[in-house]
Formats: sequence, structure tokens, C-alpha cells
Amino acid sequence: MRAPMSPYPHLLAPVTLAHVTLRNRVVMGSMHTGLEDRFWHYGKLAAFYRERALGGAGLIVTGGIAPDRRGRLSPLAGTLSHLAATLPHRRVTRAVHDAGGAIVMQILHAGRYGYQPFVESASALRSPISPFTPRAMSDARIRTVIGHFARAARLARIAGYDGVEVMGSEGYLINQFLSARVNRRSDRWGGSIDARMQFAVEVVKAIRREAGDAFILMFRLSLLDLVEGGNTMTETIAVAQALEHAGITLLNSGIGWHEARIPTIGTIVPRAAFREATAQVKRALTVPVVASNRINTPEIAEDIIASGDADLVSMARPFLADPQFVSKAAQDRGADINTCIACNQACLDRTFRGQRASCLVNPRACRETELIYTRTPTPRRIAVVGAGVAGLAAATVAAERGHQVSLFEAASQIGGQFRLAMQVPGKEDFRDTLRYFANRIGATGVTLAVNQRVATDALLRDFDTVVVASGVTPRMPSIAGIDHLKVISYSDLIAGRKHAGRTVAVIGAGGIGVDVCTFLLMDYALSTAAWCDEWGIDVEAREGGGLRAPASHPSPRRVWLLQRSPDGRRMGAGPGKTTGWAHRIALKRQGVEMLAGVTYTKIDEHGLHIVVAGEARCLDVESIVICAGQEAVNDAAGLASARVHVIGGAHRAGELDAEAAIREGVELAVRL
Ligand code: NAP
Ligand code: SF4
Repeated sequence: MRAPMSPYPHLLAPVTLAHVTLRNRVVMGSMHTGLEDRFWHYGKLAAFYRERALGGAGLIVTGGIAPDRRGRLSPLAGTLSHLAATLPHRRVTRAVHDAGGAIVMQILHAGRYGYQPFVESASALRSPISPFTPRAMSDARIRTVIGHFARAARLARIAGYDGVEVMGSEGYLINQFLSARVNRRSDRWGGSIDARMQFAVEVVKAIRREAGDAFILMFRLSLLDLVEGGNTMTETIAVAQALEHAGITLLNSGIGWHEARIPTIGTIVPRAAFREATAQVKRALTVPVVASNRINTPEIAEDIIASGDADLVSMARPFLADPQFVSKAAQDRGADINTCIACNQACLDRTFRGQRASCLVNPRACRETELIYTRTPTPRRIAVVGAGVAGLAAATVAAERGHQVSLFEAASQIGGQFRLAMQVPGKEDFRDTLRYFANRIGATGVTLAVNQRVATDALLRDFDTVVVASGVTPRMPSIAGIDHLKVISYSDLIAGRKHAGRTVAVIGAGGIGVDVCTFLLMDYALSTAAWCDEWGIDVEAREGGGLRAPASHPSPRRVWLLQRSPDGRRMGAGPGKTTGWAHRIALKRQGVEMLAGVTYTKIDEHGLHIVVAGEARCLDVESIVICAGQEAVNDAAGLASARVHVIGGAHRAGELDAEAAIREGVELAVRL
């Protein structure tokens, strides 16, 4: 069925699942926001989902809820095991239904991924990402847990959910049973794939019995485990067919266990890189199949469904970035979508720190009841100095609230440091953020003046309020010979004003040092097939886990990455926890030599002279790229005035980061 007169006719076509008709084929995938773990946060959670339902999401999947205490991901994680616990959930389901949406609750038993001492699994094998060794579940305990899944589904139904999603991927408990990597049992639950799938099959049968037919039962199955000892595609298809037979309504796809050392959702993953794995499973099933992972535009989502690779498309983080993703697509306003750039900085990285998730490009995500863009009763003339992301956020939100805003930028284009970042291979999606802001400037009526260097005290004569968001400039450390021709600042290199030779020393191993190494060594304008080659991924999973030997394409450049601090483990620690490791693997594969505990002595025609581990060395390099942090750019005159606000890097260059910059811009604009 196609939606007539629609810009995305396949994506926006309705579909009926278990007596529930979804208004389109867009699934808002499960995300742990941090709000689902405390009942007193359910008002905020309801507001979060309500906005996404109002924005047109076809089917929303909640963050994971444990079926019992031992299945919790963390000691106090949300659990649904008794009737009273359904009460807060009713606020969520009511909010979504009132907004015309449908919602299913994800049941997640973490198994050995649980970050608490009572963890259990198929076998007593500790995972490489948790300090807790699980207890091997007895036959009786397995049957009890199956009952707990069914109980959670029954309670979810009572709470008003349209169904449940059973989390059977990403390496959680059910996935642990499915795979010989963790399942070493010799009883009826282990051994061949037919035995290993019994736990999953019995969970599905029990839920179907308990919740009845008019209830969506989605199963998220790992299509590619991407770990040693994972399943082959033949085994995965056998599991999918058995689940279909057992009574699932639709199959969602998962890619990669959390312990996999292959990136699956970061910016460096090509868009829709794993659609072929979904297509293979879809060809073997009759129930609808959902594609997922690195799908962030309506064009790609439409193409996946139109080409027959999947029946629905799941996007999770794109709904943090823009709750109106679907409604904008439906109105043919795709260019207005605030695109998720897959940075993970404000969502997954925060979740892993135990904080509430949000979004780098949309700080309102998960703060819908706190950051409200109300119309101002007292419109003022506001000057914003600097059109980096801090200034762009402040200017567009202030104008949206009704202020009269002028935005001054010294460069010829908007974007500041973000414009540099988007030149780094694998960060091409960052362009979409600037496209979004450029459109918001037009839509909100901000007056933009580029090539304009302005003074704060002069602006105070014409404007009621001045927002200084003039950003940063690269710091040049005081090393003898720093003015040598070999020396290049990272901004000159990335902007193409200067070029590096074939041998390069990079001074500073923070986020930008890593980005510069990537810029010097990698070509991520790779096809998906070439990218899979490089990371050793076989999307047809002919061998277990979908792994094969990575292809080696060494760069002709030789690069050293250096830092003064002695702790080598922190090298390249700038990018967040969920993405930094992938960058470090990629750099090591390219042969980048990483040196910690370095003292810089001097720079001359021979290269960079250093002392490391007490030994004097000279790195005979053609170029030295400086990535030693930044210094604030602000015009001191006028800053003392109460009518002046300083935000972003101009305020605290030492903590420059795009997430803080946009958040500070929005928070200020809401207060003005
Ligand atoms: P940074 O992370 O603070 O790193 C600066 C580096 O320069 C450090 O390695 C520091 O290490 C070195 N350094 C500082 N002062 C120095 C001096 N006087 N002489 C020599 N070396 C010096 O800063 P950044 O790399 O410029 O990144 C800025 C911000 O953007 C950070 O918050 C970062 O997380 C963020 N960022 C994030 C990403 C991402 O992908 N998530 C990418 C880029 C940037 P030593 O002092 O040990 O030498
Ligand atoms: Fe996407 Fe980054 Fe926002 Fe997460 S923080 S939703 S990855 S843009």
C-alpha cells in the first residue's frame, strides 16, 4: 500500500499490525533516556513521547524495562513485575494515544550485561564490558524468567501499551542464549541452534498466550552479531522463522553486540550500512521486517522500503534530534529536519555516564517540560556575535520566541568550528546541522551579516542585549621554533589553507588531534562495501558473527600522535566513550604511532625534537600540526555590562565542545 500524493509514499503508507493500524511505517526505536528508571520522572517521559507522537512517529518503542530484578541493566533500572508499577506507565500510554500514536514497551533482560551483582546468563561467562560474572541459570530459573517476560507483557497490556518489543539483540540475555559464544549448555537450552533458540521461542509463545492475539509482539533479533562465536546468517534465519512460527507480529533488526569492536551506529558508519542483512532475513519471512541502524533521512528510509529491503524503518536517535521528523517529511519539508549526526555525545555517552540522555543538536530532547520556547511578552533587539553553533542556537531560538535578532559573523559563512569538523572523513553528516540552522535563520527572521567584525561596546548602543558567541582560536604552544614553516594549525590544515607532507607529527591527542589524524589518513568517502571490507564485516554472515579478516589499505602518510601527559590510555580520549574506541582502532590500523609523556624541545629543519621516556629523539617530519586546544576569542570591551552574555567557546575555551555550545545558546535564548 502506498500513501497517495506523498513525497515518501512507501514510508508514509499505513500498515496494520495485530489489529493496530499504524499511520506510517516509521518506528521510533528504543532508547534509554534515563527517565524510565524512576516513577517520578514519568511525567517528563510522557511529555517526551507525546512530542514524538504529535510529530507523526508511526510506532514508538520505549526504553528497555526489565521483567524482574535480576534482569536489570543497573541496580535501580525500571522493572515491570507487579500491578502497581503499571501506574506511571499509564501516563505514557495515554499521552501517546491522545496524540494519535501507538506505543510498545520494550522488555529487556540484560543477562550478563547487567551492571549489578545479581546477573545471570546462559553460562557463567563474564562479558568483556562488565565486571560481574553471571550465574548460569538453572532449568527452573529459565522457566521462571520466561514467565516473567509473559507477566511483563500482560502488565504492559494493562498499562495501555499496544504491544511489546522483546529485546533479543545487542548481546542481551536472549542473544546470549542464541549464541554459542555465551551459551555453553548441554541441556535442552544449549548445543545446536535449534536448542539455543528454545529460550527465545518459549518467551514468544508465553507472551502470546498471556497477552492474546490483538497485541503487537515485536522481536528484536541480532542479524549480525559482529563478535567471535556469533551466529551465521543461516542460523539467524532459522531463528527468525521459528519466531514467526511461535507468534511474533513483526521482526525488528539489531546489529552488533555491545561488546563488538566494530562500529555500528557512529558517524563513521555509512548510512544504512546494514540494510542488506535485513533484506536477507525479510526474504525468508512473511511477517513484516524492520530495518535499523544509521538511517537518518526520509530519503534513505523511503528507499529501503521502496526497494523491498524492509517493510518498516526504525530510527531512534533521529527522534531525539527532531521530534517532527515525520510531520516535516510528510509536508515535503525534509530540508527543515534537524538531522541526527550520529555523534552519540549527548545521548549514548550520557547514558553510559548514568545521566539523562539528550541531543547535541536538540538540547530540548528529554527536557520538554523544562526548555519551553514561549513567545516573549517583551520583544527586544538582540545582537549575536559569532555564527558558530552557539551563536546559531541562541539567535534562532531567541528569534523564534519573538525577539528581533541580528547575527554578526566575521567569516564569510556560518558554522565556525563545526564547519571545520564536517571536513573530517566520517563527519560529513555535520553539514546537515548547518543546513538546518541556515533554514532556521530564514524561517525565524534572523538578520545575518557575514564578513562583519563587530565590537561589543559599539553594539550596546544599538541593541538591548548582546550575546557574545565569538568562539575560539587554536592555541599555539610556546615551543622553540613554533614559527617554523613546518608548523600548521589544525584549522589551517582542515580548512585547506595549508597542506601537510607525507610525514607528520600531531601535537595534542584530544578530540581534534584524533580528527586531524583521520583527516590525514582516511578516505571515508568509501562505498558501504569498501567500508565493510575495511572493518572485516560480511553482511551475509557466511562465518559466525558476520566477521572476516579486515582489508588493509595503509595510507602513504606516516603520522605520530603526541601528548605530554604520561597516561597513554587517555590518548584520543576526546571523542566520547561510545565512539572514541572505534577512532583509536582505525588509527592503530593505519599505523599511527602514539607517544605519551612527551616533552617538546624545539622545532627546526630536522623536524620535531622531543624527549620521551628520558630519551631525546628527533621526529624527522615534513609537517607538524598543532592541536593543543583553543583560546577564547572575545572582545573584552563591554563584557562587564549586564546586557552582555558570553556563551560557548568564547566563554570557556578550555571546555569547548559543540554539545555545551548549543545547549548554552538555547538555555540563554529561553531566558532572554
Ligand atoms: P582537548 O581535548 O583539550 O585536547 C588538547 C590536547 O592538547 C591535549 O592532548 C593536551 O594534552 C594538549 N595540549 C594542551 N595544551 C598544550 C600545550 N600548551 N602544549 C602542547 N600540548 C598541549 O582539545 P581539542 O582536541 O582541541 O578538542 C576540543 C574539544 O572538542 C574537546 O572538548 C573535545 O572533546 C571536543 N571534540 C570532540 C570530538 C568528538 O569527536 N567527539 C572531536 C573533536 C573535538 P597534553 O596537555 O597532555 O599535551
Ligand atoms: Fe544524534 Fe548526536 Fe543527538 Fe545523539 S546527540 S541523537 S547521536 S545528534
